[in-house]
Amino acid sequence: MRTTTVRVPAKINLSLGVGPRREDGYHPLATVYQAVDLCDEVRATEVDGDSVSVEVHFDGDGWREQAPVPTDENNLAVKAALALRDAFGVKSGAALSIRKVIPVMGGMAGGSADGAAALVACDALWGTGASRAELEEIAAGLGSDVPFLLHGGTALGGGRGEEVSPVLARGRFHWVFAIADHGLSTAEVYAGYDARHADAPPPMPEVPPTLLTALAAGDAAGVGASLSNDLQPVALALRPELRDVLAVGEQGGALGTLVSGSGPTVMLLAEDADHSAQLARMLLAEGVCVDAVQATGPEPGAHLI
Ligand code: ATP
Repeated sequence: MRTTTVRVPAKINLSLGVGPRREDGYHPLATVYQAVDLCDEVRATEVDGDSVSVEVHFDGDGWREQAPVPTDENNLAVKAALALRDAFGVKSGAALSIRKVIPVMGGMAGGSADGAAALVACDALWGTGASRAELEEIAAGLGSDVPFLLHGGTALGGGRGEEVSPVLARGRFHWVFAIADHGLSTAEVYAGYDARHADAPPPMPEVPPTLLTALAAGDAAGVGASLSNDLQPVALALRPELRDVLAVGEQGGALGTLVSGSGPTVMLLAEDADHSAQLARMLLAEGVCVDAVQATGPEPGAHLI
């Protein structure tokens, strides 16, 4: 049986500006995405017949299994395969297998990553020959973060996050991710954001110019000082204990510390690999998270291996 395997990174938002809720329920975003080396793998194998199935395997640490991942058509990898099949009139099926490393409901777009990976894997397996633009269009229909996870690297996200454009970024960044013992619902965090702005809608979001300058220069300290996330106050209100994680970052001399996306994962920017190991040890010693995972970025987006 033929098989294709795709590796796909998690995403973080170096800045996440969120505007007023649109009529379609989405929020306008101005964000800078970065793909980091915390990767899921999605394998697509040929099957007899036209079924698309998925199984999910968790690697190593028990915390990865704490949140449920659907193994039916609600799994974003299955949705992606079905959307590609519909778009190209494919008659074949596929057995998908996900090796899950990205924290589930962690604000790192793990489900979207699997969707992007399934698009690339099934395109290769079925010989669809989809163009980059066609894959991006299907990706945007699956979720706001999915186009970026095809793209990878460091990029600007506009619209509701699906309009991805390259940004000049130099350097390699050393991150530590403080993993929480249970996830946060993205929908709940956005609902909290709307409630906070019920009386005065937030302004249209912008990316901080200082962040773009620091990225262009490969200036890690400048990037750390410019990290921002409009959703952080909501995540902190829902999970006050995340303040303890931010405090460890500060004590440990992190260049910047921020809640990742809708949380509850917190990201700490380290000076180098040694500092990253030191911050990870501090987080674990203080007992403020269930795991502290070191990863670098930027990484390429979903790609065949
Ligand atoms: P985001 O950062 O995109 O808001 P997240 O990283 O917080 O999302 P995910 O891990 O992507 O959260 O999971 C969000 C929801 O998507 C979960 O409730 C999960 O049931 C569902 N889901 C669907 N497919 C997947 C998948 N392949 N992996 C993980 N979750 C999935």
